[in-house]
Amino acid sequence: MTIGGTSLPERAYDVAIVGGGNLGLWTAHRLAARSFGTIAVLERGWAGGGATTRSAGVVRQQGGSYVAAVLGRLSRTLYLELGDRLGIDSGFQEHGYYIMAQSEGDKNVFLELINVRADAGVDSAWVEPEEGKRRFHDLDWGLFTGATYCAQDGFVHPPIAARNITYAALDDPSVDLYEMCEVRSIEHSGNLYSLETTRGTIAAERVVNAGGPRGAREVGTMVDVDVPVRAVRHQVVTFPFLPDGVTHPLPLMFNLGKGYYVRPEEQGALLGMSNPADESDRSDRYQLNYDFGYHNKLRIEWEAEFPALRNLPISRSWAASIDYTPDHLPIIDQPREGFYVVAAGGHGMMWGPALGEKTAELIAEGSVSELPSGDIELARFAEDRSGAAADSIALPFPKGE
Ligand SMILES: Cc1cc2nc3c(=O)[nH]c(=O)nc-3n(C[C@H](O)[C@H](O)[C@H](O)COP(=O)(O)OP(=O)(O)OC[C@H]3O[C@@H](n4cnc5c(N)ncnc54)[C@H](O)[C@@H]3O)c2cc1C
Repeated sequence: MTIGGTSLPERAYDVAIVGGGNLGLWTAHRLAARSFGTIAVLERGWAGGGATTRSAGVVRQQGGSYVAAVLGRLSRTLYLELGDRLGIDSGFQEHGYYIMAQSEGDKNVFLELINVRADAGVDSAWVEPEEGKRRFHDLDWGLFTGATYCAQDGFVHPPIAARNITYAALDDPSVDLYEMCEVRSIEHSGNLYSLETTRGTIAAERVVNAGGPRGAREVGTMVDVDVPVRAVRHQVVTFPFLPDGVTHPLPLMFNLGKGYYVRPEEQGALLGMSNPADESDRSDRYQLNYDFGYHNKLRIEWEAEFPALRNLPISRSWAASIDYTPDHLPIIDQPREGFYVVAAGGHGMMWGPALGEKTAELIAEGSVSELPSGDIELARFAEDRSGAAADSIALPFPKGE
């Protein structure tokens, strides 16, 4: 175990991971679990300080594709196992999750997804509005055609998820974490990569690009690999309490069509939202301005659909850069010999542990099990993807650059 000291060692690592977010840390941990070799995690700021701790932490197995469901299922298991292994709480809270359908068209798609998820080992079921009203009376079910439900969905408290995986990575003697260590350029010569950082140069046989919404694209450019990870605003508001008589803690709900979701948060609730009109943000900042104009516009909708949230005071609100890929699916690939890319397409809390596991598998064993390569490799973005798989249960991210 080493916490990065003042200078970097001269010896070459087996793997250097650029980015100490949920993905980079889980990749380090799962490589270490395989006793793969020596691993350096190079983080520009603090471990978990990017999108990871700014997130809402929703962990949903009810994906909109086979890949999404597999990754959600495996991540939930890995979060729970990590808590057990460390002997502290995993940070995962299981409250059940309703994905709301607003039309007959939604209903048909959702019914089909129940089968897709079952193939991936995820148990979700259709709930008619009448049944929904009995089970979760705080929603106006008259505005919905039903929902799919999974009792095992929930959320991780993001700072606790970051604490646990940072601790687990550091606890392994083969992993060194270097914070305040920005990678500025990468050269490849012979069988070694040389990474120039703000703390000196470090060498490694393999490099993993886990740079997240504010780095994956730039780190790819350092080795001439186009990584189509973009950033866009996503914003979150929390309410300190719920009115008397309201279910507490609430189950989670997602209004897919309107791009907002609600989960419990301490004695109250947390609501996350994406504005479909927001464009890709190129500011390089994680911290973005909160759009109260959009908040007030959407509030009319959420207060109609979820009357329990009417006129509640706000305890916190924030906006931050979320990652997205063109099809909302992840990237796990080795586009250059020894250079790997892992990205979450905006689902890095619900998929992060599994993406770390699958990336470790690719590095150590040479291939990724269970996931169709056409849904995770970079080559798909160069092809005509009309009609190809995409994750249909996702926030309304921008379509283009
Ligand atoms: C407001 C908000 C709410 C969200 N809610 C959810 C949710 O409920 N569920 C869910 O699944 N996902 C959610 N997400 C998305 C999720 O947070 C991300 O998908 C996930 O954190 C991505 O993890 P990462 O490790 O790829 O990125 P990050 O956590 O951003 O980590 C990447 C790290 O790389 C570092 N880095 C970048 N470039 C360099 C460099 N050149 N040198 C060194 N270090 C570098 C960065 O400093 C950063 O710490 C949300 C995101 C936001 C913003």
